[in-house]
Formats: sequence, C-alpha cells, structure tokens
Amino acid sequence: MITIALSKGRIYDETLPLLSAAGVKPVVSGDTDRRLIVPTNRDGVRVILVRAADVPTYVQYGAADLGVAGRDLLIEHGGRGLYQPIDLGIARCRLVVAAPEAFDYPAAIRRGARLRVATKYVKTAREHFAAKGMHVDLIKLYGSMELAPLVGLADAIVDLVDTGGTLRANKLKVVEEIQPVSSRLIVNPASLKTKRAEVVPLIEAFGKAARA
Ligand code: AMP
Repeated sequence: MITIALSKGRIYDETLPLLSAAGVKPVVSGDTDRRLIVPTNRDGVRVILVRAADVPTYVQYGAADLGVAGRDLLIEHGGRGLYQPIDLGIARCRLVVAAPEAFDYPAAIRRGARLRVATKYVKTAREHFAAKGMHVDLIKLYGSMELAPLVGLADAIVDLVDTGGTLRANKLKVVEEIQPVSSRLIVNPASLKTKRAEVVPLIEAFGKAARA
C-alpha cells in the first residue's frame, strides 16, 4: 500500500491535477465526504488528509510514503528524515514581515527598537531576525496573524502573503520579504528503498507533471 499525505484546501486542489497526471484519482463521495483516508482509482494507493503542518511528520515517521508540503512548513519542521525530490511549483506565495501601514518599520530598526513579532513560523522568524542582528520578541500564534498588530499584541507579523488582499483589508503592508514559498513533494527515505517499484514511478510522474 502506498499512502500519500495531503492537506485540504489549496494544496489538495493544486495537487489533484498532478496526481491525475500520475494516474491517481481520489474517489470521494461528494463535498460532504468526511473520511480522512480516501481510496483512489488505483488499488494499493490511498490518500490521507491531515493538517498542513502535520504532513512532514506523517512522512517522516513512515505513516505516509509521500506527501505534499509547503516550503514554509518544511523549514519549520526542519526536514529531518525527509527526502525532498521535487519543487512542485504549486501553492505559491511569499513569506514576509508585515506591519501596520502607519508604522515606520525602517525607523524602528534604525532606533534599535525591540519589536514584538507575532507568527506561526517561530523558527524561520528567529533565524531571519538573528541574521539581520535584530532583537525581537516572538509571540507564537496559530492563525489570523493579521489581527495581532491591530489589537496591540504585536508590532509586526511574519506570515504568508499571496494576493496581498488580507493585508490590505487589515491596513497592513509588507515591510520585508523573507522568502518565496511553494509546495514540494516529500518522500520517506525508507519507503523509497522498500517500495521502490511503486514509489519511483510516482515521483517521476509528479516531476513530469510539475514541469509540464
Ligand atoms: P492573500 O490575502 O491572498 O494575500 O492571502 C493571505 C492569507 O492566506 C494569509 O492568511 C496566509 O496565511 C494565507 N495563505 C496565502 N497563501 C498561502 C499558502 N500557499 N498556503 C497557506 N496559506 C496561505
């Protein structure tokens, strides 16, 4: 059995065409299907649906053989025990520092102000600010980071931006780019050895579909 870990939403939607090109189609029974283990048209291939941040963990421990995870979450996870053969180029966005429109971020940095920064990406943020020689107090949040500066929890946030619509709607602006983000195919190294005959053709088909 080959198990592919995906997360619902953008990654799932954008992975489906690549899976289909690899000859794998999940068999779901409508929008109300709440199953977490989804069979596919191929005997011996199934999809499991997990939280995006948990995909690397399922693959690391071999509970899934393959998975698709954003670079943002792979960096936070650390990538231990994961083979990352292909950047699929899907779910593209940017990891940025954002602050209220009225906040003079460059001036605050010049003053050496100790900023409070709210984020889900504590590890990445710590490395980013340390590399700039900035002292920040990081506040871990699990979602809706954009709210934090609006209610005085933080001066700035580190978060993903796609169209910029969420920032604009909350009167925030990008003040620094950290890195571009897209999703990668990740593989359990033991599966690559022990299930080579099934796993390698899937990796190759994903790679071909991603390049097309
Ligand atoms: P946008 O308003 O299009 O800039 O999207 C920003 C919101 O969507 C933020 O709350 C982000 O955390 C989230 N977001 C954008 N792109 C992604 C992505 N590729 N994966 C997960 N969340 C994302």
